[in-house]
Amino acid sequence: MPLTDRVLVVLRDADDPRSPAENASTQMAVYFPDGCPDTRPPGLPPTEDYHPHADTVCPTCLADWTVGHLVSNPAMVPDGTLTAVRFTWPAEDF
Ligand SMILES: [Zn+2]
Repeated sequence: MPLTDRVLVVLRDADDPRSPAENASTQMAVYFPDGCPDTRPPGLPPTEDYHPHADTVCPTCLADWTVGHLVSNPAMVPDGTLTAVRFTWPAEDF
């Protein structure tokens, strides 16, 4: 089953939760419209950690994610797109 949905998850600033944190820890995560599966979904590389609702996002855990993170709307991506990318960027420059 291709994993075709992704969200961008950005750490919120603790003092100004509407903004990204100063060194905005950011990740692209797999989004499951029907819920994060309990076990590693086919298509996720074995090198990639899998903890449902912790490494991936679904409608059930979205509220928990948004407490500490800004979460984009889900976007569809082509089959073969990386399942996870993590990086930081200096939000103070924007
Ligand atoms: Zn979930």
